[in-house]
Parts: sequence; C-alpha cells; structure tokens
Amino acid sequence: MPWVSCLKTSGYIFRKYEEMKITGLSTYRKYIELKDSHKMRSALGVNNGNEFVVLRLHTDAGIDGLGEASFTVRWSGEVPDGCVQVLNEVLKPVVVGLEVGDFASLNRRMDAACSRNWFAKSAIEMACWDILGKDQGKPVYELLGGAARPLRFENRFSMGAYTVEHARERAAELVSWGFKTIKVKVGTVPKEDVARVRAVRDVIGFDHDLVIDANCGWDVATAISCVQQLEDCRLDLVEQPTPDGDYRGLAKLRKETGVKVLADDICFDLIHAKELIAHEACDAISVYPGKNGGISRSIEILDYAQEHGVACSIGSNLEWDIGLSAMAHLVVAHPNMRVEQYPGDVLGPSYYTERVVSEPVRIEEPYTFAPEGPGLGVGELLLG
Ligand SMILES: [Mg+2]
Repeated sequence: MPWVSCLKTSGYIFRKYEEMKITGLSTYRKYIELKDSHKMRSALGVNNGNEFVVLRLHTDAGIDGLGEASFTVRWSGEVPDGCVQVLNEVLKPVVVGLEVGDFASLNRRMDAACSRNWFAKSAIEMACWDILGKDQGKPVYELLGGAARPLRFENRFSMGAYTVEHARERAAELVSWGFKTIKVKVGTVPKEDVARVRAVRDVIGFDHDLVIDANCGWDVATAISCVQQLEDCRLDLVEQPTPDGDYRGLAKLRKETGVKVLADDICFDLIHAKELIAHEACDAISVYPGKNGGISRSIEILDYAQEHGVACSIGSNLEWDIGLSAMAHLVVAHPNMRVEQYPGDVLGPSYYTERVVSEPVRIEEPYTFAPEGPGLGVGELLLG
C-alpha cells in the first residue's frame, strides 16, 4: 500500500485507505490583521498582518478537505499570487485522480511538477488528512497512531525584536499570562539584540526559560559573539542563529559556545535534517507541516531524528486554524515532538483579529488543545 510505504519508518499501522479520488480544488485568498498586542518585528521585518491562501480539496466521495498555505516571502520564498497559480495550474493537474490516502504518490507527483513550494504542497496534503479523518470519523491524530501525549500542550511565546523598554513591558506581561518559556527575536542590530535579551532575562528571572531566535539574521562570527556576550543570561536555547544552508557554521557555534541549538529556517526537508545531524549542528530540529510540505514529510524528519537521538519541536509561520490544527495533531501524535522539553509555537490564530473556520482550535495561552472532531476538526470554512 502506498500509504504505508510513504510512512514506513514511522512504525504506525494504517488501515487501507478508502477508495476515494481527488477530483479538484478551490482556492480562496484573504488578508487578516494581527492584533495590536501580537504584531511582530524580527530579522524578517515588521509584520502587521498576513494574506493566506486557503483551499478546499474535492473528492468523488463528496467529502471536502481543508488546507492552508501561509507566507513569509523572505523566509519561505512563497507569495499568495504564486501559490494560487501553483495550486491551480501546476499541482491540481497532477493530483486529480489520485487516491486520497496515497501520500507517496501525492508527494512524488507534486515534487515532479515543481520544486519547493512547501506551503502550497502542504495545503493539499493536510486537506487529504482532513478528508481521511472525516471519512473515518476520527481526528487526524488517531490516524497518525493515536495520542502520544495529552491533547492539551504548552507553548512558548515568541516576542518581537522590540526596543528594550517595550521588551521589558512585554516580558512582564507574558509572564503574567502564564508563559514559562519566552522567545525573543534577535538577528537585527547586534548591540540592540544583546541589550533586548539581557533586559528580558532581567525581567523574567531564572525561573523561566529564555530562548532567542535570529531567523538567520546573524553571520556566524556575529552569532558566536552575541551568544558569548550573553553568557551570563544563561540562554536555554538558541534558534537558528546562523545563515540558511551553513551546517558547518551552525555546528561551529554550537561547539564553541556550548549553547543548545534549535535548527529551524535551515531545515525544510529530510535531506536538510540529515545534514544537520551529520554535522552535529543542533540539539533539536523545528519541524512543521507547512514548512515541510505536509504532515507525512514532517513525520519522515521526526522519525529520522528520533532514530538518531535528536529531538524535534515545532515552529510557526503564524498559521490560521487549518494549518495550526495540522500542527496540533502532529504534536500530539508523534513521540519525538518533544514539546515538554522544547515548547513550540502552536498559537498562530491567537495572533489574529479574525478566525476563518466555524470551529476554531481552542487556544488558552500558553496552552493549545488538539481538536477532537473528525479530520482536522475545524468545522466549516467561513470563506467562499
Ligand atoms: Mg524560528
């Protein structure tokens, strides 16, 4: 069975998928503002709101699945116009006619049709899981082998690269909201980065975990220098301090500074994960369906990392409820998604002023609850 062959390393046992073929897809675009309290500034620029592409995947069984693609062009390279074109003109022709649960063929055909475009591919892939779950009356995490941890899991909060004064206020607020792990965006002006991180540690004390994320914004020498300057702050984790593609540079920082490293923007696929592990460049890898091109490919990375004793956690592209639900099901189902040790960023919809589905994912910061309804469990799309 293709489904099993795609996910053979996971150890999960799948039922043979029902005979259900993909017949088409419909795409919708929408822009939603971020809440004032959640606007973001990072090495990737200032973010006040995001435009998304949401899709309905149609089948000959009359069951539709929902998928979502999100965008940060400087980071993923994808944009809404391009995504709509790729979905309708490049991917739709090669996925129509496929069995819904045949992930090996789905991924192979999509890769043969176009390189990268992981978020566009993930929108189709997650919609397949939604359809399978709706067909079987089960949440996606059950299809993935069942819950390996409680459905309620804890997140960290990712704070923008604010001024020192703003960062201090924000840190105090986040602690009062119950966040135990605070992530601070860096990778802008090194002197300002160091001052910001120091201010946040001063406010949150050593009872809370402090993570920094440079989003590839530093070069290797700057990253090592900044981390060394922050030695007294006892950073609990350093996320993507060095440029994309530089596995040796990341390994060098890890070795020279002794900090724990989370690889994120450098790892989109299994080959990247293999390079990270071969170079002993990280302690953990940030994995999520949008970035990886779907749940099945995230599982390949999670499995490979687990076999090599490397933990995974989950990052974010500030998803809406559909993409976030795919993330939540994966967090709950996969043993190597070690959010207890490395809390992730599964909070996207709480950043936005509007929700796009009839059954939004339950989020009570710092907690996210994996949906229990069939499929992705987000109900109906409130667009189109
Ligand atoms: Mg990151």
